[in-house]
Amino acid sequence: MNVLVVGDANADLSAPLERFPREGDDAPLGALSWGSGGAGTNVATAIARLGGRARLLARVGVDPAAEVALGAARRAGVELDAVQVDPVRATGLCFAAVSPGGERTFFSFRGANVGLARPEVDVLRGAQWLHVCGHALLEGSQRETTLALIAEASRRGLPVSLDLCLPLLRAAPALVLELAAKLHVIFANELELAALGESLEAALTKLERGGLGLLAAKLGARGSLLAGRERRIVPGFRVDARDTTGCGDAFAAGFIVASLRGAPSGVAARVGNAAGALTATRPGAADALPTRAEALALLAAHAAGAEHDILAIDQE
Ligand code: ADP
Repeated sequence: MNVLVVGDANADLSAPLERFPREGDDAPLGALSWGSGGAGTNVATAIARLGGRARLLARVGVDPAAEVALGAARRAGVELDAVQVDPVRATGLCFAAVSPGGERTFFSFRGANVGLARPEVDVLRGAQWLHVCGHALLEGSQRETTLALIAEASRRGLPVSLDLCLPLLRAAPALVLELAAKLHVIFANELELAALGESLEAALTKLERGGLGLLAAKLGARGSLLAGRERRIVPGFRVDARDTTGCGDAFAAGFIVASLRGAPSGVAARVGNAAGALTATRPGAADALPTRAEALALLAAHAAGAEHDILAIDQE
């Protein structure tokens, strides 16, 4: 295993509605789709699909939703030996009700994720990178376990990345700044940066003062922005976007896979952009993540030679 990913594993359900129901209504669904989701599952799956090696540290319940949550990761070859089973709490679930105009209303339950306990074995053994999904720092024993892992990875000199999320920035903005010095890279989208400071400048200054080495900001179709010793935009790939769920997770996975193969941050961000762009072309979360062959084809089509060569390296 190269990358230990700590984060949520959820069953994702989504259904188009004929109209949004009133309380107590009996609303028919136009269709129903089930898929793997949760940022932990998504990032680990994307790393494996892109040709990297990942182990997932997550917790599910004793219910049929557990296999839905983990299915994509299992099919992609993610190591699931560290996944815990909660005897009481149900597997995390996210139901997206899609109104006729396209508006999505989410019903979500974090369930077993919150109960992630300290692993009995050394899950960082053999890891070259620790990736933390922001929700893992929100509450319960999952938060304690994740904080202990970050401290241990940092003690061992392993690169640690954190992908922010709005609930974390609302609940514990001070924690993010406190952790910044231990992190190799923070991933954040524009809404998350806005929650951190009144302007991009203000957010960056706060993170830099906290001791952060590198920020990789995700800018949707525009690509990404790297801020650290220098600041620059890394342009995105133009695609026919259908559903941007999971794009941020794909970006982080592409960035990490390329970095572990020795890519400088600009090349890593462009590989991340390619993975994010391809994810936008398909509906769903974990099942929409691209394979290495698809990412290589996109990079080749755009004559992105350095990025292509890094991703083409076969892992020993
Ligand atoms: P998040 O999912 O965390 O909100 P973004 O929506 O910014 O993050 O997506 C992550 C990355 O995926 C972007 O930095 C970009 O490289 C790529 N991406 C997202 N949406 C598109 C799009 N419509 N067209 C091309 N690339 C996209």
